[in-house]
Amino acid sequence: MKVVHSPAHLGHNPQEEIAESGAHSPHEHTGRGEIIRETLAADPAMEMLSPREWGIDPILEVHERGLHDFLMNAWARYQRDVRSAREVVPDFFYRPAMREAMGSLGEPSHVNAQLGWWCFETTTPITQGSYMAARGSVDVAMTAASLVLGGERFAYGNCRPPGHHATRDLYGGYCFFNNAAIIAHHVASTTGVKVTVLDPDYHHGNGTQQIFYERDDVQYVSLHADPVRAYPYVTGFSDERGSGKGLGANANFPLARGTGDAEFLDVLKRAIEEIDRFKPELLVVSLGVDTFDGDPICDLRLTRQGFFDCGALVAGLGLPTVVLQEGGYALAELGNNVRAWLRGLEGLSAA
Ligand SMILES: [Zn+2]
Repeated sequence: MKVVHSPAHLGHNPQEEIAESGAHSPHEHTGRGEIIRETLAADPAMEMLSPREWGIDPILEVHERGLHDFLMNAWARYQRDVRSAREVVPDFFYRPAMREAMGSLGEPSHVNAQLGWWCFETTTPITQGSYMAARGSVDVAMTAASLVLGGERFAYGNCRPPGHHATRDLYGGYCFFNNAAIIAHHVASTTGVKVTVLDPDYHHGNGTQQIFYERDDVQYVSLHADPVRAYPYVTGFSDERGSGKGLGANANFPLARGTGDAEFLDVLKRAIEEIDRFKPELLVVSLGVDTFDGDPICDLRLTRQGFFDCGALVAGLGLPTVVLQEGGYALAELGNNVRAWLRGLEGLSAA
């Protein structure tokens, strides 16, 4: 399988994230991208490739120009207008209720207020190289998609930072640009084929759902921890089925705490039935392996063998498939878990 990787991800290098009322060493860090690269590069079944540069046009097809332009300049503006800071994090969130009965106000002009205009939470610091890393992650995704459009059956993009929490005009949840949505839109809009995004990450991909919620050319199907107990809390419920012409093209499968391999595979079979009914011609997988038993921030119980079995089950769809990296925070097993999923997809042995 062709594996696309870019060293650009090293530019997004936070040393702190603010979560659970404190500053901690980040769960989403450069070591994640590196352990996946090292593990896959050591497997003779994987062929490592560098991405080509795609520029910003594919990003602007999916995201507000204002979000892109803000991310491009935010770190430097913050250094100039607020203070010198290694990690730039919002501490003010403009909510419309602040101006209730006063008329709406557009985007504030101060960089500190703009942080909370374009971001919805505090765990996604902007460092000096974050913007270019996010651009590189999109290049990785687009290159993997182009390989599959060019005839490869499968391709994997080692995307970092991840993407599925980024909405049309918000970043957050470790995500800046929505890599999976960008390639799903690119394929659907340039080739006219229907595309499904299957998202088995522990967390609901609120951004991908939001971007395609009213569309009938891209289906979104997600398995994730029930939002009643898990981030992102406000999306991912099973009654969210799409709206307008997109009604029926969105399917959520919330999971109970402690869900293990057998139960997860049963639900994945139901998700695959949804995909079969939609009849896509290309599949994008938002591959999060934070469903792993040993993941430090999650509460499902999948094993490496379970990931292999998931990949094999998805292969049964018989679709050209682009797999992009999302979450996964158990560093020691991260590379092996991703590798197991990909080997299952490609029909190789589990070893
Ligand atoms: Zn996740």
